Amino acid sequence: MLAIQGIAEAGSGHPGASFSAAEIMGTLYLRKMKHDPLKPGWNERDYFINSKAHSAPGYYAALAMAGYFPTEEIKTLRKINSRLQGHPVRYSEHQKHHSVPGVEYSGGSEGIGLSVSIGIAMANKLDGKKNRVYTLIGDGESNEGQIWEAAMAAPKFQLDNLVAILDRNRIQQDGFTEDIMPLDPLRDKWLAFNWNVIEIDGHKVEQIIDALNRANQLEDKPTLLIANTIKGNGIKHMTNNPQWHGKAPPRKHTPVLLQELESECLIAPSIIAGERENYEEKVRKAERGGADIIHLDVMDGRFVPNTTFFADTVRKLRHITSLPFDVHLMIEDPLDHLQDYIDARCDIITVHIETCQEKEFITIKEKLLDSGISPGVAVNPFTELPDWVYSHTEDIDVVIIMSVNPGYAGQKFIPEVLPKMVKIGRMLRDHGYKGYIEADGGIDAANLQQVYDSGARILVAGSAVYGSSDIHGAIIQLRHKANVALERRLIEHATKIGIRSDWMKIRKHILIPLASELEIEGELHAIK
Ligand SMILES: [Mg+2]
Repeated sequence: MLAIQGIAEAGSGHPGASFSAAEIMGTLYLRKMKHDPLKPGWNERDYFINSKAHSAPGYYAALAMAGYFPTEEIKTLRKINSRLQGHPVRYSEHQKHHSVPGVEYSGGSEGIGLSVSIGIAMANKLDGKKNRVYTLIGDGESNEGQIWEAAMAAPKFQLDNLVAILDRNRIQQDGFTEDIMPLDPLRDKWLAFNWNVIEIDGHKVEQIIDALNRANQLEDKPTLLIANTIKGNGIKHMTNNPQWHGKAPPRKHTPVLLQELESECLIAPSIIAGERENYEEKVRKAERGGADIIHLDVMDGRFVPNTTFFADTVRKLRHITSLPFDVHLMIEDPLDHLQDYIDARCDIITVHIETCQEKEFITIKEKLLDSGISPGVAVNPFTELPDWVYSHTEDIDVVIIMSVNPGYAGQKFIPEVLPKMVKIGRMLRDHGYKGYIEADGGIDAANLQQVYDSGARILVAGSAVYGSSDIHGAIIQLRHKANVALERRLIEHATKIGIRSDWMKIRKHILIPLASELEIEGELHAIK
């Protein structure tokens, strides 16, 4: 979001590349690297080398979020006398006004950063230091011969303290990499150069953390992380569109673009719905249908009347998909069983506030954060969210508001939770909450718009998906409804700030299939 503000203010910059690497840089700075914004030159720090330096706006956003400089400063991007230029400048004390705290490497000429990282990694090894070096390279950048010279060198020196992350967004400059200079078979190439290669979805924080943890455990080899990403991820009309490689959006679009980044909606099929058992098949079908995450309801027959499955089942299912697992623990004494679910490699673990006090929750969230798992809290339809939750908003990623009474699949949605959702959402945001509100229970195509409008951004759908004979079609229908809800919201915002027709023009190809539901057919048709 900071990146788009900066680019729009500057009138130039590289939005596409900033978005494709947003989660990678955010995860490194906020969850993974050892560093201290107050002491950028700290001897024990891990290093980040942004070799594909064109993603500077996203890089600056990550540095600002990590505390290296005020987030407000992003608005000076590419301005005369700003420290934040189009290509980042390495920090040095005697040039403080022209260099950026936290930046280790002056980038801009592509292809060089990996070699620099090898130098740093070798020096650290020689000094017997434990610091790690992370380097972000681009796939367009991989056309440079120097990348492959570096690829040969790192394994020779057994640089197990080096992780190169390839932002594989498949677009370079004004075209697709595979048209301009094909890179595939990429994995085989790096394997042949003797690297440890891990391939992940580069927009999934959970997968990034897990891959980095695995890389850090390995000895004698450098690791290449192929992070499959989408250029322009998050803004639909920029997504996968080479046009937006280096073009700034008009400044007046900024509020609507920011709203879009905040309005992403995830479809989470709940596998206990429909026929009992055969969970593997249900997970596979959800993935094929295009679900964003898998919702797993663990019921112990004590906190709720039913029993479903436990950590051993979650562990078995983990092997068949890389979709994030959103594990909803409807169990008494969640702390006693937590480790089993951590070991089962869940991505989000949510506990009910009816089953734990603040003291227990603090232990739970600390254990989860240490393991790279997102903590969540859930509240039943007729329970209030206790005040203590609001003092932990910084560490909570998900708040589940139950829209049915927990314990059974196939119940009817309780509309009274909608005003509650609005109220809790507002209070959470007032306390700095940046995570998701998740609506769980009875969500279907008919009520999705209302639930979305009430602020929920993870939508758990059980019977609406698995009660249907066409699971794929059911997920597509929910996605369609979510897209309608999002576009309606954005058009309303654009109208309010006086850019309605401008917005509809830039968005035309996305709005056409939704036009009749949005009741904008005539208006859209008239736009040239
Ligand atoms: Mg649930």
